[in-house]
Amino acid sequence: MKVLVLGAGVVGVATAYYLWKDGHEVTVVDRQPGPGRETSYGNAGGLCPSFAGPWAAPGMIAKVLKMSVQRDSPIRFSPLPEPRKVAWVLEWMRNCNAERFRVNKLRMQRVAHYSLQCLREIAGGEALPGFDFHEGGVLQIFRTPAELELGRLSARTLEEYGVPWRILEAAQIPSIEPAMAHSQAGFSGALHLPADASGDSYKFSQGLAAYLEARGVAFRYGVSIQALERAGDAIASVRTSQGPLQADAYVLALGSHAPFLVRPLGLKLPVYPLKGYSITVPVSDPDAAPRMAVMDEHNKIMISRLGDRIRAAGMAELTGYGLDLDPARKRLLVEVVRELVPRGLEWDKVEFWAGLRPMTPDGPPILGRSPWRNLFLNSGHGSNGWTQSCGTSKVVADIVSGRTPAIDLDGLTVDRF
Ligand SMILES: Cc1cc2nc3c(=O)[nH]c(=O)nc-3n(C[C@H](O)[C@H](O)[C@H](O)COP(=O)(O)OP(=O)(O)OC[C@H]3O[C@@H](n4cnc5c(N)ncnc54)[C@H](O)[C@@H]3O)c2cc1C
Repeated sequence: MKVLVLGAGVVGVATAYYLWKDGHEVTVVDRQPGPGRETSYGNAGGLCPSFAGPWAAPGMIAKVLKMSVQRDSPIRFSPLPEPRKVAWVLEWMRNCNAERFRVNKLRMQRVAHYSLQCLREIAGGEALPGFDFHEGGVLQIFRTPAELELGRLSARTLEEYGVPWRILEAAQIPSIEPAMAHSQAGFSGALHLPADASGDSYKFSQGLAAYLEARGVAFRYGVSIQALERAGDAIASVRTSQGPLQADAYVLALGSHAPFLVRPLGLKLPVYPLKGYSITVPVSDPDAAPRMAVMDEHNKIMISRLGDRIRAAGMAELTGYGLDLDPARKRLLVEVVRELVPRGLEWDKVEFWAGLRPMTPDGPPILGRSPWRNLFLNSGHGSNGWTQSCGTSKVVADIVSGRTPAIDLDGLTVDRF
C-alpha cells in the first residue's frame, strides 16, 4: 500500500519506520529542510514513562492561576479569548479532578511504558547512529519539605503502575548523581526513578530518517501541506506547495499543527500548543555535569545530559503559536542551571530554543482511525511526545496494516472527545 506520512517530527519518522517494516511504500512530507526540526528539535530529552501523566490534575486550576500571577513563574497565559483555546481550557478544567486524573494517567502510563520498550527495540535492533541514549534513570529533586512530601505521595501511586522508585535523603543525592554534590541549591530530598532514560530526539529523528531513506523510504522536505482533499468517506489527495500528492492511506503527524488540516473537513481535533523553552550548553568538564536526567521539581525544569552537552527545558505558556524567546524566560533557565550545575559548562556557547508541545486537554495522545477511512491520526503527544513516539507509531502502523495493536486503545482515540 502507498502511505503518505504528514510530518517528519519524531512521531512522523517513527511512524514511517513501522510502516516501512510492514512492507508499505512510504513517503514522508515536511515543510522543514530535514527531520525533527520543530518540537522534536530541542526538548528536554527525557524518556520518562514514570513521569507520564496529565497536566489536568486535581488542584491544578488553583495552582496555575496562582503561578501565572507570580513573578518569574514557569507558567503563563495570554488573555486573548481565542475560541479554540477557550474550548481547550474548558475541556482541560473538566479533567482536573481525581477520577479523571487517575483514568488519564493510567492511559498515558499504558502508552509510555510500551513506547520506551519499542524505542529500546529500535535502538538495539537497527544500526542507527548514536542519539545520546542514556539509561541511567531520572532524579526528581525537591527543594522544600512540602515538595518532598508530595513527591513521596506521588511515588506511592507509581506502585499502582509497577514503576520502581526510591526516595532519597538530601545527603544521599550525590551517591546517585555525583555532579549534584557541586550544586548550590538546597535540597529537601529526591525521588530516584531508575527505569527511565534520556536521549536526543532530534538526533534520533535524523538517524532513523537517514536509515529509512537508504532503504527506499522517500522524504520530501521543504513541502508545505495546505489541505486534505476529500472524496466521499476517504481522503483523495493532499494539496501541497509542490502540487497534489496521492496515496492509499495518510497518517497525520503534524504536532501542534494537525488541527488546521482536519478542521476544514469538520473534525475539531482538541490539540493546542503549550510553549516551552530550552537551553543547550556544551560540557567542558564531564564530571561536573550530571549524567542522568535531573528534574528540578521546584522550577519544573528538566536537565538532561546529551553526550557532551547539557539540555535544560521547562516553562509552559498558553499563548498561541508564536516562537519568540522571552528574555525573562531565558534568564530564569540560565539562573536555575547555573545554580544546579555551577561548574564545567561553556556558557559562552549557550543556545536558546522554544517549541510547542502538542497538548490534548486530558493528556493522552490521539491515535488511530479518523472519521475518514484512509486517514489515521498520530497526534497530541504533549509534554511526553519523545517518550511516547515509538509506541504510538507502532500502534498506528498496526492499525494501518489491519493488525490489532499490542496495547488497548481504550481512551486513546479521537472518539473520546
Ligand atoms: C520545552 C519542551 C520540553 C519537552 N521535553 C520533553 C521530554 O523531556 N520528554 C518527552 O517525551 N517529550 C518532551 N517534549 C515533548 C516532545 O518534544 C513533543 O511531544 C514531540 O516532539 C512531538 O513530536 P511530533 O512529531 O508530534 O511534533 P513535531 O516535532 O512538531 O513534528 C511535526 C512536524 O510537522 C511539520 N509540519 C507541521 N505543519 C506542517 C505543514 N502544514 N506542512 C508541512 N509540514 C508541517 C513540522 O515541520 C514538524 O516537523 C517537550 C517539548 C517541549 C516544547
